[in-house]
Amino acid sequence: MKLKNAVGDESSVEIASFSEIGGGFCGSRLVMASGIRSPVQSNQEPNAVMRVYMDANATTPLLPEVMEAMRPYWMECFGNASSIHLDGQQARAAVDRARSTLAEFFNCHEAEVVFNSGGTEGDNTAVFGLLRPGDHFVTTAIEHSAIMAAAERVAARGVEVSFVAPSASGLIDPTEIQRALRPETRLISVMLANNETGVLQPVEEIGKIAKAAGAFFHIDAVQGAGKVPFDVRRFGCHLCSISAHKMHGPKGVGAIFVRRGTPIESLLVGGSHERRRRAGTENVPGIVGLGKATELAMHSLEEGTLIQLAALRDRLETGILELPGIGVNGGGKAVPRVANTTNIWFDHLEGEALVIALDLKGVAVSGGSACHSGATEPSHVLMAMGLDKTRARASLRFSLLKSATEADVDYALNAVRETVARLREISPVAAGTLG
Ligand code: PLP
Repeated sequence: MKLKNAVGDESSVEIASFSEIGGGFCGSRLVMASGIRSPVQSNQEPNAVMRVYMDANATTPLLPEVMEAMRPYWMECFGNASSIHLDGQQARAAVDRARSTLAEFFNCHEAEVVFNSGGTEGDNTAVFGLLRPGDHFVTTAIEHSAIMAAAERVAARGVEVSFVAPSASGLIDPTEIQRALRPETRLISVMLANNETGVLQPVEEIGKIAKAAGAFFHIDAVQGAGKVPFDVRRFGCHLCSISAHKMHGPKGVGAIFVRRGTPIESLLVGGSHERRRRAGTENVPGIVGLGKATELAMHSLEEGTLIQLAALRDRLETGILELPGIGVNGGGKAVPRVANTTNIWFDHLEGEALVIALDLKGVAVSGGSACHSGATEPSHVLMAMGLDKTRARASLRFSLLKSATEADVDYALNAVRETVARLREISPVAAGTLG
């Protein structure tokens, strides 16, 4: 199987076996967009379906270099990083190397990097670690559920929470953050890039507002990390969460920057790991993978990969917009977005039906709805931007991998054109309105 590395070269990796799941294949069998070529295709098996993965904001595959970096830490170098013998020292040295990469990435001191299990834990740490009854918390109506649900929980425990609404283009206005402040505001939390629309938020300006108000500032940077130049000092934040699996690292590992002196109470207590800020034996292979993925992400930022990626995203978006009854959610003039994301509404269609139909054609995307307690709820992000329920449900998110190619985009574009035409043909409302 061939995978593209961060700088776009193809390198060969042997994937030993394919896992069959419920009649389908797990990942590597048929696939994959983005330079990951299918063994099926290469063997010219009949009925091979080209697969184009355009759901990078959900997760990304490991890069071969990340897999290779992690490999020794599962078996040969399996030590506990807290042990004083040689095996432990090897593990500790690997964790230290990753910490130094992360410190370079965040632009902070090594002691300000805390490894954890990913974005959800980082977000929860900021909210539960700082807020107490009587405090006021300012966040936005478009945060990830890891912030939204944590906010709900602290609200039930006596914390006042203000949710700042975005503009119709998905942007948070810093003056609205300013207006929401109160003397007892202890924490402001705003994401760097929205996971559904890709819209980049003005975190630097919000950092200045937080400083002037004497409030702590947390950034959920899970979707921005590796996609935009990064510097927690420039952002002016006290806390910043990232997750490895959104940047070609392993799942279940991440890190949070905790500015020196920030009085965070740890979520997990036990051993004195991570300077008592996160108890639990370190996930050494995961941390090594995060370190390598971060190093490659920094490299790809320097290489200009993202300029090409934005051009591919625009090619896809422009092609889809040629169809009638379609528009983009978020972004627009003077509203910056990360390079890989576009979110599009399709009138008279159901997002979920589109996701399934596109999947059958080999294209993986996400819809604008989430399943809560068995019912499909329209996205809270799109609703906060002022979309009605029908349009929010009729929206799709396309999020490209950094290794996406023109061929991937053209394949997806064709699949979208055919699918939209076919589904609209059988939709009486669409037939009447769109002709
Ligand atoms: N924050 C944002 C903006 C996200 O997009 C995600 C994941 O989709 C998370 C937090 C949660 O990260 P993790 O999957 O590492 O828990």
